[in-house]
Amino acid sequence: MDDIQFQLKAVVKCSSSLDDNDIKLSELNDFMRESAEPLLKRGAPPGCGAEIEGWGVSGEQLKLDLRSDRFVRAHDALIRLKKELGRFLAKYRIGIRGIEIESYEITMNWEEGIKLRRLPFVKELKHSDGRLTLYLDVDYAALEKRIPDRLLRLLEEKKTAASWKGKSEHWELLFESRSERKKSFRFDKDPTEEMVKRGWIRHAAGRGQWIYGPQITRIFRAFERILIEEVLKPLGYEEMVFPKLVPWEVWKRSGHARGIYPEAYYVCAPKTRDPEYWEEVMDYYKVTNEVPLEMIKERIEPVGGMCYAQCPPFWIFLMGKTLPDSILPIRVFDRSGTSHRYESGGLHGIERLDEFHRVEIVWIGTKEQVIEHANELRERYRRIFAEILDIEWREAWVTPWFMAQEGKAGLAELKEVGTVDFEAILPYSGKWLEFQNVSVNGDKYPKGFSVKLQSGKELWSGCSGVGLERWAAVMLAQNGLEPEQWTEGFRRITGELPEVFRFL
Ligand code: ATP
Ligand code: ZN
Ligand code: MG
Repeated sequence: MDDIQFQLKAVVKCSSSLDDNDIKLSELNDFMRESAEPLLKRGAPPGCGAEIEGWGVSGEQLKLDLRSDRFVRAHDALIRLKKELGRFLAKYRIGIRGIEIESYEITMNWEEGIKLRRLPFVKELKHSDGRLTLYLDVDYAALEKRIPDRLLRLLEEKKTAASWKGKSEHWELLFESRSERKKSFRFDKDPTEEMVKRGWIRHAAGRGQWIYGPQITRIFRAFERILIEEVLKPLGYEEMVFPKLVPWEVWKRSGHARGIYPEAYYVCAPKTRDPEYWEEVMDYYKVTNEVPLEMIKERIEPVGGMCYAQCPPFWIFLMGKTLPDSILPIRVFDRSGTSHRYESGGLHGIERLDEFHRVEIVWIGTKEQVIEHANELRERYRRIFAEILDIEWREAWVTPWFMAQEGKAGLAELKEVGTVDFEAILPYSGKWLEFQNVSVNGDKYPKGFSVKLQSGKELWSGCSGVGLERWAAVMLAQNGLEPEQWTEGFRRITGELPEVFRFL
């Protein structure tokens, strides 16, 4: 951000004329020299800050030409000046009616390699000889809202993102299960194909969506029971029901609003539920048997998206509250509905879906409690995988999505805040699949949703998402679909798999 330059031209509109007498003008002159100039340098190192390159008066208008470095950015200078000028003009019973921004240019060093196409509030971008100039399209309200500062932060983020590109995501092996029969799995087929053949599942009408028959549903429920008996009950969890339609406000607070767009499933509400408003749509369908998408688009409003990460909408329950320290750690889980992600080309079988089922586990406490609890969870999970599901897996430390997105990768190096992914190999393809995660999210959610602790200590949280389809994909890929190949413990929980349908 060194060598950055700000060039701002603004017109201050006043309630009456500024140049109707010489005394007023000369006092304005003194004001500019004695009050305004030093004001624009306040707080900056010697020789730095903003300066008035020129000014002029015509009638009720005062034209200002400001220029600055990074210390007192020109828009901050203008905001400072407006206050001071208001005080000065009040002596003459003159008010400030408004400020018009004629132009605002920001120039900085910029690497050729990082391409920028369009930026919000920027009408033109010029990039040459390692310098980037932004021609801003802003009004005074946008300056007050600190839009230029956020734009510069956005550019910093793009730089960080560009420096990440090509490098593989941070991934570090933490744990690997070991047993004798490693590499000699009992099954080498794609479990999705096998299940389709046996009529256990059928592709649903939507993309990445399946209908699960009685047998696999029995297996999902067995997973849930194991999770509850082996992990959640012993660790003191209680069940809740989290919302599954997520309004924008939640994603603004959770940080998802920064980048979720390519993967979200959007939810729209009708602009009105007046049947007359919708009559044309209904009539069109009745006459053509086609759903008129364009006509519908005009009549709906996006209100948010479908559940993506499961825990964010829960936080509204605690929003704005102060918690007594004595109720910590809080331990709750949700298994009340589907999650939805637009997974593009990566769809495969029941491994990568647009609609999936997950148990989400959330714990909240002091920093020490949250970190310790994550370790206890991992220990309990391990026992399930080794003894009941009988699978081979590994655990890896990965850079959490929100840190990568928010350019905070450095923080993750402390290994206090971050994610452990559980991955298992699928013998039929030789590929590793993440089937669940355990994340320590630091103070991100309590901060985002303004939740405080009575003692004033920092409040932390963690979450863990257990994907039922992913557990099934892993367990069936390694052990096959024949219950005889499963552990006795698992068979006891599933019982005999139900046979309901037969097809002719
Ligand atoms: P991947 O890298 O495989 O896309 P992710 O990092 O996007 O996974 P998370 O955001 O950590 O996954 O989600 C937590 C858990 O939710 C995953 O461990 C997995 O069990 C489940 N999950 C996520 N996306 C899907 C999906 N598209 N289909 C099925 N399960 C999923
Ligand atoms: Zn979560
Ligand atoms: Mg993903």
